[in-house]
Amino acid sequence: MGMKYIYIPLVLLLIVACKEKVKVDPLEPRDTTQIGEEIIVHEEYAGPEPTTPEGTEFYKPVPPVVNPNDPVKKAPSDAIVLFNGDNLDNWISSKDSTAAKWMVNKDGSMTVSNKTGDIQTVQNFGSIQLHLEWKSPEEVQGENQSRGNSGVFLNGLYEVQILDNNNNDTYVNGQVASIYKQHVPLAKASVPTGEWNTYDIIYHAPEFNDEGGKIKSGTITVLHNGVLVQDHVEIKGTTPYIGWPKNPAHGKGPLKLQDHGDNSRVSYRNIWVREL
Ligand code: MG
Repeated sequence: MGMKYIYIPLVLLLIVACKEKVKVDPLEPRDTTQIGEEIIVHEEYAGPEPTTPEGTEFYKPVPPVVNPNDPVKKAPSDAIVLFNGDNLDNWISSKDSTAAKWMVNKDGSMTVSNKTGDIQTVQNFGSIQLHLEWKSPEEVQGENQSRGNSGVFLNGLYEVQILDNNNNDTYVNGQVASIYKQHVPLAKASVPTGEWNTYDIIYHAPEFNDEGGKIKSGTITVLHNGVLVQDHVEIKGTTPYIGWPKNPAHGKGPLKLQDHGDNSRVSYRNIWVREL
């Protein structure tokens, strides 16, 4: 038997399979929006293609109005302000849940008090948009990972690195704005040492089933001083100094700031989140 007797039916099968794939039911709704528990089906996307402009103009859901510069909060009007320069009331010691022992400065910032330990928010969060500003000390001290090292732990578990990386090379998956030991940033966008950096972070928490297995990876997007440095990267698990990422099941958790324990003197200001 020649090869063509096998080849011809295979090709026919492939053509049929491809046809099946591109077949779309024009009456099937093709777009939905979820707001909380409510799923809104855009019926307008069903049926034959509209032939007027109005046929593709929707009036629901109506997005809430947010003032991006709330004069009282000095943050978006729907944000939760976690540090506004006055006190550390929203923060506790990660070690023992006592009052946070970092220094509040006269200029509305706070600074890591060396070896007092990490601090974390009293409130727990899942997926969030986070804004914070941080500054390395002007007076340079130490090198590699021991120069102005701190970090923000999303969900208390996943570190976005903070480091004085100016004229200070280190392993790239541990440099400033890395997802520590997982994702190298797309760029190094630090301002000069001693000036204020901004981080704008979008964090989507991972999802776990009832047995504790991860069914959906979390993701992180980071803008460092307005420059995209982490583009919706998948979180592989926790971000330990030694060893592989781990994937313990978890729900909401605190936002944690790192005391690296080597006199980092990193300062923070204007920390707020919006829950997603
Ligand atoms: Mg760190």
